[in-house]
Amino acid sequence: MDSDHGNESTAILRPQFWSRFTLSELNHSEWEAVCDGCGSCCLIKYIDDENVSDDNNHEAEMVEYTDVTCQLMDCATGYCQHYATRQEHVPDCIQLTIENLPHMMWLPSHCAYKRLYKGQGLPSWHLLLTGDAVATQQQMRAANVGVAGRCVSETGMSDEEMETRVVNWVKP
Ligand code: SF4
Ligand code: SF4
Repeated sequence: MDSDHGNESTAILRPQFWSRFTLSELNHSEWEAVCDGCGSCCLIKYIDDENVSDDNNHEAEMVEYTDVTCQLMDCATGYCQHYATRQEHVPDCIQLTIENLPHMMWLPSHCAYKRLYKGQGLPSWHLLLTGDAVATQQQMRAANVGVAGRCVSETGMSDEEMETRVVNWVKP
């Protein structure tokens, strides 16, 4: 959807930046490094816009996630196949920014951006905390987080079939 799935930025990350600065104070590399690459935001979801509260705060009962992903997702790895050029392929891939984050509370509850925005800190498995990609992957699996290996592409899927694929392992 929006994030640096894979955290490829190499610029300076200030020590413990996620707990020392607000999201609006992060540099570009820090902002990108907040993403843990779970891929959940790339799942097709149903949002009940009619019941959104005044602050645009989509709550759990108003959002249903499916296990169907955007066409660019590699469902085996859980990463966008063409992240750098994704908007040439998927123009409506949403850019997650500090400005639109408050209007994106449909993001999963474990999303690191949403958690920091709500003052909850990074999820325990986050690479910034573990410093070990393998450990992070194992902990994400244990926490039942991430789309890798358990999603299907939207390509060729009918709306009717998609409606049958609502899952409960992602919640806003
Ligand atoms: S193009 Fe699709 S798979 Fe890639 S980041 Fe956007 S929503 Fe995710
Ligand atoms: S849900 Fe949040 S942490 Fe997960 S891939 Fe999307 S932006 Fe990154």
